[in-house]
Amino acid sequence: MRQSQPYECPWADEEIELFRDMVTRFLDTEMAPADEAARKRGHVGHEIWRRAGELNLLCSDIPEEYGGAGGDFRHEAVFLEEMARRGLTGMNTGVHSIVAHYLLNHGTAEQRERYLPRMARGELVGAIAMSEPDAGSDLQAIRSRAVADGDHYRLSGAKTWISNGYLAGLVLVVCKTDPSAGAKGTSILIAETEGLDGYRVGRVLDKIGMKAQDTSELFFDEVELHRDQLLGGEEGKGFYQLMGDLPYERLIISVNAVGAIEGALAATIDYTKERRAFGQSVFDFQNSKFKLAEIATQARVARTYLDRCIQDLLDEKLDTVGASMAKMWTTDLQNRVIDECLQLFGGYGYTNEYMIGRMYIDARVQRIYGGTNEIMKEVISRSL
Ligand SMILES: Cc1cc2nc3c(=O)[nH]c(=O)nc-3n(C[C@H](O)[C@H](O)[C@H](O)COP(=O)(O)OP(=O)(O)OC[C@H]3O[C@@H](n4cnc5c(N)ncnc54)[C@H](O)[C@@H]3O)c2cc1C
Repeated sequence: MRQSQPYECPWADEEIELFRDMVTRFLDTEMAPADEAARKRGHVGHEIWRRAGELNLLCSDIPEEYGGAGGDFRHEAVFLEEMARRGLTGMNTGVHSIVAHYLLNHGTAEQRERYLPRMARGELVGAIAMSEPDAGSDLQAIRSRAVADGDHYRLSGAKTWISNGYLAGLVLVVCKTDPSAGAKGTSILIAETEGLDGYRVGRVLDKIGMKAQDTSELFFDEVELHRDQLLGGEEGKGFYQLMGDLPYERLIISVNAVGAIEGALAATIDYTKERRAFGQSVFDFQNSKFKLAEIATQARVARTYLDRCIQDLLDEKLDTVGASMAKMWTTDLQNRVIDECLQLFGGYGYTNEYMIGRMYIDARVQRIYGGTNEIMKEVISRSL
């Protein structure tokens, strides 16, 4: 019997591995070399989005009839986890895919045809605008308001923390169409941003991490949107639409978490085997070996549960509780593990030059967005 069996991903096959080769080539030759400049600028720019579109890496699980690659969540997962393994957090393709799925699952045929092909080509970068300065976890408290006016809605409100916000060509805006009706008065409007009167991108927020990713404020001042830009064409469906896609969204965050854990572990093994102290490699200290053994075990446990969730999603069996468990547990683990990895780098870990330092600071937000981990516990506890 072999001492160590390589982990076999239960959902990968030859086609997926070929796709992975193409993804890693793109990341290593095009995205990674541009990352430092993107971090300085605060966004990755439109060109790389279009390039990813050209390579069929965007909307990979959207059917071909809407311009997608006609794959499934495995393709999405490969792209996300390979970026996370390399500490590349500039392109929020997760949010882009979530927007595409809202259109696919809830949009009218006309909305799907109008927007999805351009999203798949990277011409329209997608964003979803829920959070407001005074409403994050408590989404029912949002104040953005759309008032019907003939054929149009007039949309006003302020959104904040919007991922892809600076580059976004298509924003799904969660707003109230009937403020007196609570959740049933919430709708989602589709805003195509180019040349849109009354639409303004505010600051690209000065986050502590994920410096290459544009997270912005967005302002809507009496923005006129035609009634056919109401997602699904029916008012009051916003909360139902948001809830329906939660397993998909939470799994995306968990894929990022496990990818980052695996990338951090691999980088730390390499570093500790090379770095020498007291006449031996850092790896050879018993503390380092034990720490890395613990981390490798935790990474394997996380991977096993994640892969099970991915399979469940593919089989349309993943529920919100299972996905919330994955989001909460793997992102907590990501933060603990990367902290321990950074320790094994010593002072070099505490610089932006080393991937582990960037991974450490980028990991922190994983416990906050996509529903905070406290909200995940609320959701899980309701099922007990
Ligand atoms: C980098 C980044 C990107 C983001 N991207 C997007 C995006 O693309 N689109 C978007 O709409 N939003 C986005 N967000 C916003 C994000 O979803 C919110 O920050 C998050 O939902 C928390 O809301 P809040 O910041 O208002 O915190 P609050 O809701 O004010 O929470 C503050 C604290 O109270 C806790 N808390 C709140 N309610 C409860 C409760 N019921 N039980 C126990 N504890 C509770 C929270 O867990 C947290 O610890 C992003 C945020 C960041 C930082």
